[in-house]
Amino acid sequence: MPQLNTPLKILNHTYGYSCFQGQQETIINHVLRGGSGLVLLPTGGGKSLCYQIPALLLDGVAIVVSPLIALMQDQVASLTELGVAAVYLSSACEFSDNQTSIQKIRNGLVKLVYVTPEKLVSEWFLSFLSRIKISLFAIDEAHCVSHWGHDFRPEYRRLEILAKFFPKTPRLALTATADYYTKTDILHYLRLKDAPLFSSSFNRANLYYAALEKNNGKKQLTDFIQQHKNDAGIIYCNSRKKVDDVTTFLNAQGIAAINYHAGLDNVTRSEHQTQFLQSSSMLMVATVAFGLGIDKPDVRYVYHFDMPRSIDHFYQESGRAGRDGMAANSVVNYGFKEIFELSQMILTSEVEDLKKRYELDKLKKMIAYCDSITCRRQTLLMALSEESESCGHCDVCLSQNNLVDSSVLAQKILSAIYRMQQKFAIGQVIDVLRGKATTPVQVWEQHKLSTFGIASEHSEKELRRSIRQLYSQNLLDIDFMTGALKLNANSLAVMRGIQQVWLKKNPHKIIESIQLNQWLKTEQEERIYHNLLNWRHTMAIRHKVSHHAILSDRSLREIVNLKPSDELDLQSVYGIGNVKLERFGADLLNLITKL
Ligand code: ADP
Ligand code: ZN
Repeated sequence: MPQLNTPLKILNHTYGYSCFQGQQETIINHVLRGGSGLVLLPTGGGKSLCYQIPALLLDGVAIVVSPLIALMQDQVASLTELGVAAVYLSSACEFSDNQTSIQKIRNGLVKLVYVTPEKLVSEWFLSFLSRIKISLFAIDEAHCVSHWGHDFRPEYRRLEILAKFFPKTPRLALTATADYYTKTDILHYLRLKDAPLFSSSFNRANLYYAALEKNNGKKQLTDFIQQHKNDAGIIYCNSRKKVDDVTTFLNAQGIAAINYHAGLDNVTRSEHQTQFLQSSSMLMVATVAFGLGIDKPDVRYVYHFDMPRSIDHFYQESGRAGRDGMAANSVVNYGFKEIFELSQMILTSEVEDLKKRYELDKLKKMIAYCDSITCRRQTLLMALSEESESCGHCDVCLSQNNLVDSSVLAQKILSAIYRMQQKFAIGQVIDVLRGKATTPVQVWEQHKLSTFGIASEHSEKELRRSIRQLYSQNLLDIDFMTGALKLNANSLAVMRGIQQVWLKKNPHKIIESIQLNQWLKTEQEERIYHNLLNWRHTMAIRHKVSHHAILSDRSLREIVNLKPSDELDLQSVYGIGNVKLERFGADLLNLITKL
């Protein structure tokens, strides 16, 4: 066995990967030289290696702060499968387990210790740390320090004492949330203002983005699931009730799905989470309570049954698909109803006005994403302050001819709103446009307006969709407290014919999302793959870890394609390092050559 004394050797032999990605090597070398810093990389960008490899090369033990036990357990399980000595400490562990781990740390038998922030800043633990050699501090999910973000954890702020207590020890903060305010908070609270920032594009090239207007949401969902039968997926809903409802519906259709939300007791929640982590084709229907702790690289799609409440939530949640770098889908199902509900929720919440404005802006960006008439990836990245070219393979890029010049229709809608003195909600505006003299229309004498019936050739649905798109394109405003449609400066440009308006014709048609599993080319490959899945499942149960801690989907795929015939071949497979080769090599070769 070669001496594992350089980052590259560790990458090759411990992790079984051939080369570094993006800035990994720069960051690792920076930490090895004793530097601190902030790492902003998208989900799946390979942040863990940035502190794990220095931890293996430096003297002493690395302390990794992580917000959730589930995350720590998973990381420690994966490291153990790689033959790396790692433990986690938490107040949720048995006292005796923590004692055993502490003893191991004292005896220098451990390279990485995962702890919760509460544990880390406890007086007892700080005093323990002052007596051992610490190689570095890694603060994972560092955005938890910021109250702007969606995972605010006040105890993260107490980590500011690390700089004071351990001024010479490198501190590496890591997150996938790049928002300007969040970033500023991290630099401030973790005392990293003078440290370098390592960031890369937030583009998730392997994600295929699509959004579809809600039009019988459950049917749209089952159609999608049918197209992706063997894939593990997360289905997000905005309420517990909806989660239960969708789960029951799917089960009644014979689809294996489990639920997860804060209303379930701890034991059930944790059972469901484990079930999902250990399966490669299970569906999880959940509220956003299911999120931060989920380190499952082979989630093949994230389907938002309801529209997320902000573009940042969306980026984080959709980002849970395809962490292994292989193709994965993100679908958002959206409609006017959610836009109203979410806007009202923000407006009536008990937060300061500044935060309300911040949240409304993030929601508006989400709506603009859903109704986007230009590349969806580009719209998403723009919301994250990143410029990019159109991608060519999101649903918008693939259906360019779906746009219609709707300038005249827009003028009709806006004039109706104007004539109705900007005081009425969408239902009544549509009635006037279609020439329906309902009682309220007559009471307000709107059947006498010149705009009465000027868009009677359009269905109610079409008008509703058009008004929504005008709102998402910032061509009209809505007062969400009263529901009244209003004009803004852009509306005037449209009414005067200075600005042209393009609207989408058919946004609820079934999208052509990426079909996975098409890479199996022959029956023999299907058999090998099937056997590999069974073998991995048995191993995961035997080792009491998740599937991907045994071997990732990508590794299985490479094995099927390569059909390795000896250990040398096997060693070249993605994710097979020395320890895995030793543990599983013979089994795998046997399994492939048998067929
Ligand atoms: P993040 O924490 O940034 O979301 P991870 O550290 O979990 O990402 O890495 C995502 C996946 O990519 C993991 O399965 C990881 O082992 C793998 N990975 C990381 N670095 C490399 C690399 N240099 N080559 C190949 N795979 C890598
Ligand atoms: Zn695109």
